[in-house]
Amino acid sequence: DHPTGAWIIIAIHSTRLGPGTGGTRMQTYSDFNAALQDTLRLSESMTYKFAIPDMPYGGAKAVIAVPHTLDTPFRSELLKRYGKLIKQLGGLYLTGPDVGTSAEDMDIISETGNPYVFSRTPSAGGSGSSGPYTALGVFAAIQTACEFLFGSNSLHNRSVLVQGAGSVGRTLISHLQQAGAEIYFNDINTDIITRLENQGLHFIPSEQIYSTECDIFSPCALGGVLNAETIPQLNCRAIVGGANNQLTEPADADKLRDRNILYAPDYVVNIGGAMAILGLEVQGWTIKQAEAEVSANIKRALKQVLALSAKENITTEDAARRIAKKRLVDST
Ligand code: NAD
Repeated sequence: DHPTGAWIIIAIHSTRLGPGTGGTRMQTYSDFNAALQDTLRLSESMTYKFAIPDMPYGGAKAVIAVPHTLDTPFRSELLKRYGKLIKQLGGLYLTGPDVGTSAEDMDIISETGNPYVFSRTPSAGGSGSSGPYTALGVFAAIQTACEFLFGSNSLHNRSVLVQGAGSVGRTLISHLQQAGAEIYFNDINTDIITRLENQGLHFIPSEQIYSTECDIFSPCALGGVLNAETIPQLNCRAIVGGANNQLTEPADADKLRDRNILYAPDYVVNIGGAMAILGLEVQGWTIKQAEAEVSANIKRALKQVLALSAKENITTEDAARRIAKKRLVDST
């Protein structure tokens, strides 16, 4: 994008189950190749994400790699030029918000990219932010993990550490509060930290986040948080969170298994937002229906993954991939 110096990358990984679908990420990267690799990796996980619950969408993702934070008029014009690219693809690629973009941004992109832009604001005819639905799915997955580990899906007095109290994390924290969990949280935004501490929640500093003892660690901020450095420090029974691409490399799933820590694969757990928004906007679901579908589908999918992992003695990551790949093969 010459006027701003941004790179726009749209990666379509698979259209076997339906149109390539995935959010638009907007951030700065060290160089073009880092942005490209991120887009490719994220688009692949979207393919598995939709295949697991058997949704009729393929995997895709877009990254707008900006050189620096853009002033509002420049940003809006960039988003409109991006919308034109989406329109040119004629339905091969459908999008919604991701890190660095919002429902308000989708309103702007849809000015030129309609009808391929989802999750616009309710005032523009969309169904708003996907974060709360993603959070509901993460909550359902935490219940499922507790049932598997402790024989009960009750979260009463179960300790849960939430990393990142943004759109997904803060709604997850509300569900956990209602369920009577003992909640710890971490964030880097001082306003968020103050607000949650004022609500009586227990803040964990970043340097203690991985070693803090808890039942469930829930990454809801960044990818790549599970790696050779952090896994040996972990003091939890399970990892169930909304962040995309939590494992730094596939072998990290084996390291977690060796440490007897249950890992709920991120793309099984965090499909709730996309599922609800597409259900509301394409299939005409009601909000109640969307919430029920998200909870039921994610519980069912995670149970299936845990059962296959136990039966075949493989990691949960391998089990999830096997289920997704079988769906893709069976669909031909
Ligand atoms: P968000 O930007 O609203 O919130 C992220 C939060 O993490 C912010 O409060 C931020 O201050 C905090 N944060 C950033 N860096 C951090 C760090 N190093 N340590 C601790 N906290 C940090 O984003 P979101 O929509 O809540 O998404 C969170 C994660 O979930 C992302 O990885 C995203 O890709 C993934 N995800 C989101 C959705 C969705 O529907 N929003 C769907 C699927 C996956």
